[in-house]
Amino acid sequence: MYDLDDLYQEVIMDHNRRPRNFRKPSDANREAEGFNPLCGDQITLYLAVEDDMIADVGFQAMGCAISKASASMMTESVKGLSLEDAEKVFNEFRSMITQEDFNPDVLGDAELLEGVSRYPARIKCAALSWHALNSVLGEGEGATVTTE
Ligand code: ZN
Repeated sequence: MYDLDDLYQEVIMDHNRRPRNFRKPSDANREAEGFNPLCGDQITLYLAVEDDMIADVGFQAMGCAISKASASMMTESVKGLSLEDAEKVFNEFRSMITQEDFNPDVLGDAELLEGVSRYPARIKCAALSWHALNSVLGEGEGATVTTE
């Protein structure tokens, strides 16, 4: 399938097969679109923000296993956090994927994507949903992000 067999650990495959929070929350009040033209991955990320807290989060996506698994892991990592703490989680993920020092404790299952940083073509797949998250946190209202 890919040249990444060692990446497809059981947990990653499970997130791909049964993505968590794969829905649009009925009370969503922020959203962002993401598109990775290199691979064809698309995501719409939804946040329900109340009092600067992520009360709920969900996404809908089409794309490869890594992009979907990463989005699923991301939603689990930030659900229930303050916007400020969610941004910290994003920063740790970005550090991990760019092979800098990072704190795995806040990343949850997303820590398993560390191996993706060895495959430049797959980094954009893994990072897509996280860039969508960052654009929502930064801009407040809807936004569109692309990895290009
Ligand atoms: Zn992809």
